[in-house]
Amino acid sequence: MTNLNGKIALVTGASSGIGAATAARLAEAGAKVGIAARRIEKLEGLKRQIEAKGGEAQVIEMDVVDPASIEAGVKKLVDAYGAIDILVNNAGLMPLSDIDQFKVDEWHRMVDVNVKGLLNTTAAVLPEMIKQRSGHIFNMSSIAGRKVFKGLAVYCATKHAVAAFSDGLRMEVGQKHNIRVTCIQPGAVATELYDHITDPGYRQQMDELSGQMTFLQGEDIGDTIVFAAEAPAHVDVAELFVMPVEQG
Ligand code: NDP
Repeated sequence: MTNLNGKIALVTGASSGIGAATAARLAEAGAKVGIAARRIEKLEGLKRQIEAKGGEAQVIEMDVVDPASIEAGVKKLVDAYGAIDILVNNAGLMPLSDIDQFKVDEWHRMVDVNVKGLLNTTAAVLPEMIKQRSGHIFNMSSIAGRKVFKGLAVYCATKHAVAAFSDGLRMEVGQKHNIRVTCIQPGAVATELYDHITDPGYRQQMDELSGQMTFLQGEDIGDTIVFAAEAPAHVDVAELFVMPVEQG
């Protein structure tokens, strides 16, 4: 195992849940972290937490739907630290509903953030990594990127897309540019993800599910990301499928 001292990481969706916990874990492992999202006040709070533990963080206001905002965020991080070694493409949302409810705006939002946002961010960071001839990209898929669930058709489509893109990206940039790619596929994690469900039935279903088993915590996913990031340079942990023990 190497450690992450001096490595520079950019984490999208770092204002809550998995992203916030991952940024904190990366900082504890020695990385300097760019913490990116739209809710600046949450990022400021996380920066204070990281600094209180002796870590270093840059707050980056970023909307992954807006390429100009990503370009500006990436430039801010590179100007501050001179490189980007780790990208955690984590920003995402999951408003569940049945297709015949025709919540088309929510479908588009999921495609825009979960898929296009991830592609936008990759496109902005990859040239830096190619220049450096090293880097590690983590893409947040889900158990919903491995199988399909009722009420999650569009979400599953986005997370399958992330898994397919990750595999293709890994094949292309590993050998050619010495860049590692890891696709992360968690089961249920206790975060704000479920707060955005507008369908009352599915909202209740998720609340009930959280009473039936112990969900993962964001830190559990952060730990697996640090594990893969710390693997020896010739090792690419291509997939991390991380489940609560009690989830079927
Ligand atoms: P949260 O809702 O807690 O976090 C989502 C994050 O995404 C927030 O920080 C939010 O920040 C950010 N985000 C949303 N839209 C945008 C945008 N347009 N631009 C930039 N950032 C954005 O949920 P999780 O931590 O659970 O979700 C993180 C990832 O993990 C998602 O991709 C999700 O699909 C995936 N996942 C979650 C699982 C779970 O059970 N919780 C299981 C498997 C995968 P802000 O609003 O401040 O911009």
